[in-house]
Amino acid sequence: MISKNMACIKSFLIENDIKPSIQRARIYQFLVDNPIHPTADEIYNQLNPELITLSKTTVYNTMHLFVEKGIVQPIHVEGNEVRYDADFSQHGHFKCDCCGKVFDINIDLNTSSITQLKGFKIKSIQMLMSGTCEKCSCQ
Ligand SMILES: [Zn+2]
Ligand SMILES: [Zn+2]
Repeated sequence: MISKNMACIKSFLIENDIKPSIQRARIYQFLVDNPIHPTADEIYNQLNPELITLSKTTVYNTMHLFVEKGIVQPIHVEGNEVRYDADFSQHGHFKCDCCGKVFDINIDLNTSSITQLKGFKIKSIQMLMSGTCEKCSCQ
């Protein structure tokens, strides 16, 4: 996804029925510019030095709102940890057990060839792989 400027982001939020406060707009911009699939805590830690009035509650509420309005999707990588992704194109994730990074991977999944899915309507697909990334050598 291409980086968007503040004016674009604000009108995008308005289009999606979200009141475009500076904090909300900046959180969304951060997600688009940093496809690192951050948790709400990570978003807070990254943006807090810049948005000093930002609270953790605001980040949690904002992410909840973004998910509800369908502009961000939650991804569940491990346990109860929820990470956020602003990229809605069909893609999977690879979690490196060594450095902990979550990478986007292109998948071309032909779901129509899966016979068990006949008559099912797919709303979302979450594909998660784990292992070791190319930069890490530990097992
Ligand atoms: Zn790694
Ligand atoms: Zn992703």
